[in-house]
Amino acid sequence: MTNLLKDRKISETPFRKEVLAIFTKYNNAIPLSVIEKELKEYNRITLYRTIKIFLEKGIIHEITINGAVSNYAICKEECDTVAHHHQHIHFKCNRCGIIFCVEVDKFPTIILPKYKIEQLEIQAIGLCENCNV
Ligand SMILES: [Zn+2]
Ligand SMILES: [Zn+2]
Ligand SMILES: [Zn+2]
Repeated sequence: MTNLLKDRKISETPFRKEVLAIFTKYNNAIPLSVIEKELKEYNRITLYRTIKIFLEKGIIHEITINGAVSNYAICKEECDTVAHHHQHIHFKCNRCGIIFCVEVDKFPTIILPKYKIEQLEIQAIGLCENCNV
């Protein structure tokens, strides 16, 4: 997984590796507060910069649903330093509050005449598979 940093030409610092490891540990999107708790040595400025670089280099993406605090998730598809290309749905659970990146068989293709879509995000709210029992 540390190759991801090399692939995207990000210098590998112990801090960045640690943050990346936290992202890969979770199957869902996480807010900064979760990362803070997991870090051995928390430094707000360093974390902020790391998140910014990871976003710019297509390693993670940001999700905000209904004005809630930003969550971040690792990019599974072919995101790169130019753009994020996501073909999954962002799902927020009303019960546990967790935001998930959910893969779908067929992500809809939407054509808007005269407009150029550069990014398309689909958000859903309901009960996640853990809460919907
Ligand atoms: Zn992405
Ligand atoms: Zn849930
Ligand atoms: Zn996502």
